[in-house]
Amino acid sequence: MIVVIKDDATEAQIDGFIRNLEDRGVFAKAIKGESKTVFGLVGDVSSLSPEGLARNEFIDKVMKVSEPYKLSSRSFHPDDTVIDLPGGKKIGGGNFAVMAGPCSVESEEQILSIATDVKRSGATMLRGGAFKPRSSPYSFQGLGLDGLDLLKIARQKTGLGIVTEIMSTDYIDVFEKEVDVIQVGARNMQNFTLLKEVGRLGKPVLLKRGPSSTIEELLMAADYVLVGGKAQVILCERGIRTFETATRNTLDLSAVPVLKKRTHLPVVVDPSHGTGYWNLVYPMALAATAAGADGLIIEVHNQPAQALCDGQQSITPQLFDDLMKSLGKIREAISTIEYTL
Ligand code: PEP
Ligand code: MN
Repeated sequence: MIVVIKDDATEAQIDGFIRNLEDRGVFAKAIKGESKTVFGLVGDVSSLSPEGLARNEFIDKVMKVSEPYKLSSRSFHPDDTVIDLPGGKKIGGGNFAVMAGPCSVESEEQILSIATDVKRSGATMLRGGAFKPRSSPYSFQGLGLDGLDLLKIARQKTGLGIVTEIMSTDYIDVFEKEVDVIQVGARNMQNFTLLKEVGRLGKPVLLKRGPSSTIEELLMAADYVLVGGKAQVILCERGIRTFETATRNTLDLSAVPVLKKRTHLPVVVDPSHGTGYWNLVYPMALAATAAGADGLIIEVHNQPAQALCDGQQSITPQLFDDLMKSLGKIREAISTIEYTL
């Protein structure tokens, strides 16, 4: 439910209103717009009637929200959310961010080489897995905390912020302290315990769409994080599982405009996991940008043939450099096109 407050409402009236709701188990999240104050009510609103609430003289109007997600909904927050990233960079609301780096951190030499290259090409952040969710228990599982240390060295040498995946709540304090953007991987999109825990940290969370999840389920997962009250969420389309076998996943690019209409959260696309093939990354990255994505997350490896994980879908630093130049052209071209979602 959304409550629009009248311009002349007093602070005492608003405080009383919030306390009264809290007593009924409902949390009122303030969304301050340019001119109006709006509250999004979350929790058990079954005991509230819009007509009853509208009887308060300081309330302008009350609207029911039919979607099962609230805090991520555009009806709660009409303006795009803009998230601050390290180095004075931003994502959302017209700010485009590119996260690039290897699937997994393998060695100091590897991560430093790739980090230096992607930084030179204009990447916004460095990606790299330290804790890896591998389908097979016999595959390389990542360097764990040692990998995190190597990412920190790369951050220090290049100035790029780091985005890396959290697999469980075990190292949540370390992630809070050391990581700039916490990635929740596709396989954990509905790990509700993990979502609630990362929502309590004051860090941006990159939430990847589950391989078999609907857009609505992705937005409900985002709400699990946002209910924690402190984190911000960046959504990521990374392909879904379909009957098609020509690609690793089916990259659902229509999810981009659908999400942009339904939610205020920034949306990024991962064409690496989305296709599974390095030669499809470039065209799909351009297409995602043209579709209105706020950013991309791309696997880049200096020796793809020797990569310990996902070499087949990793592009070389040279191709990444070419891609960054083409992205600039696409962004310029779409800035002149007007369309309404
Ligand atoms: C990754 O980004 O390294 C990864 C494992 O992605 P996903 O969770 O989308 O499979
Ligand atoms: Mn990968």
